[in-house]
Amino acid sequence: MEVSVGGKSIGLDCNSGEVSFLSHAHGDHVSGFKKKERIIASEETLALAGFGAERHSEEWIQLLDAGHILGSRQMYAELDGESVLYTGDFRVKNGIFGKGAAAKEADRLVVECTYGDPRFKLPDPFEVYSQIGKWVKENSGSIMLIGAYNLGKAQEIIRVLNEYSSIVPVVMQESERFSSVYAKYGIGLERAVVGTPEAEEVMKGGFVAIVPPKLANRGFARKLGDAFGRRALCAVATGWVMSMRHNADAAFPLSDHADFYDIVGYMDAVNPKRVDFVHGDGTHLEKKLQQKLGK
Ligand SMILES: [Zn+2]
Repeated sequence: MEVSVGGKSIGLDCNSGEVSFLSHAHGDHVSGFKKKERIIASEETLALAGFGAERHSEEWIQLLDAGHILGSRQMYAELDGESVLYTGDFRVKNGIFGKGAAAKEADRLVVECTYGDPRFKLPDPFEVYSQIGKWVKENSGSIMLIGAYNLGKAQEIIRVLNEYSSIVPVVMQESERFSSVYAKYGIGLERAVVGTPEAEEVMKGGFVAIVPPKLANRGFARKLGDAFGRRALCAVATGWVMSMRHNADAAFPLSDHADFYDIVGYMDAVNPKRVDFVHGDGTHLEKKLQQKLGK
């Protein structure tokens, strides 16, 4: 989508405006860019997206942490007495890599609402990290598969396993490309890439592997268990476990997005005159907002 501030148009996670802003490197946001030059984004985002290093900037546009994945930023633009804040994907709660997104007052807010339904009340990430640590400890000696998206969630779980369980997980090539960018920006992640001698060594005993979500199911775990002659379990780690059943032995409600209640608190702090909801269904939030405005 496109917003305009003080007569200038800005493409939000797309090329369409006079200037374009890329909030973070997840595929559904990167795919809005045909041209890869003159993009306003963090250096980390351009590196993860595989775009050139040429960053664009505008004095009237400010980037703020979004607490989502490495390099994720919110955008605040102010020009000729008008202001707009766009969250991109954001997490308000603090996580293992640092602080959550902070709000900034603006006239207009464009907010993502992936979990914009009141039935989503996600626990504190640190509670979920402990749950993961406990599950891994209880099943030590087994093979444990944890399903996680290759960018963001995989790195978060690698760090959780390093810190909470002193475990070096086995990781797939697909997530390794992103983990190496995390490492380049100073985020150390102890991991063993499948196919390397190090991973082979790790896989001689019970081990934890971080796999794409589609592989974290009981059928695949059973096959793997048969092949290795060891009990194999699988788990998923996503906010969607709050609303959907999963074919897994454990389900961890770990999300790098704000939940309904986070978004409501965040909207209060931004105190905008106008709100647009993107990436989800904003119906419930819209209702909440109208109640607040007494309409
Ligand atoms: Zn995202």
